[in-house]
Amino acid sequence: MDALEALIRHVARLPGLGSRSAQRICLHLLKRKEQELVPLQQMLARVSETIRSCARCGALTTEQETCQLCQNPKRKSDALCVVEDMADLWAIERAQCFHGRYHLLGGVLSALDGIGPEELHLSSLVARCKEEAVQEVILALSATIEGQTTIHYIRTQLASLPIRVSVLALGMPIGGEVNYLDEGTLNTAFQARRVLE
Ligand SMILES: [Zn+2]
Repeated sequence: MDALEALIRHVARLPGLGSRSAQRICLHLLKRKEQELVPLQQMLARVSETIRSCARCGALTTEQETCQLCQNPKRKSDALCVVEDMADLWAIERAQCFHGRYHLLGGVLSALDGIGPEELHLSSLVARCKEEAVQEVILALSATIEGQTTIHYIRTQLASLPIRVSVLALGMPIGGEVNYLDEGTLNTAFQARRVLE
């Protein structure tokens, strides 16, 4: 297999692509080598060298120790939205329904997959709530059994703190994953969020 064939096969394995799309992408890159292929190569190298998790919220970031969302002074610091991963954060940002800060768990509790509290960024969540004078924690977790188990766990962990804990409500289909919701549904789910008693 030569290098081009290897490249096409590799691109074809990426999410949402097949071999035809991979061929089209590779041809496009090769035809416009200086404008497309070289910059892409440099961007990939730069991201690959600098990618890391934000020291505060766990979001993906490059170069800086904390991400741009954490550094943005316009974001409200009294509300914290807890999400599973980066795809969920991006979905909520696309919907523009939340203007506070995030906390990424890195997954959800799952006895089946052997994911316990230690595997997730849970202790740092409790620490942040205390340190950053957080008033509301919005649990934007999927409506799956694992998501609900995680919500229950976090609620217990935060019970002794003077914090309002809410969950996404209306419009959130059972079994629904946050990043598959369209922007309108996410907006409704945020607006109609339910405070856990
Ligand atoms: Zn951050």
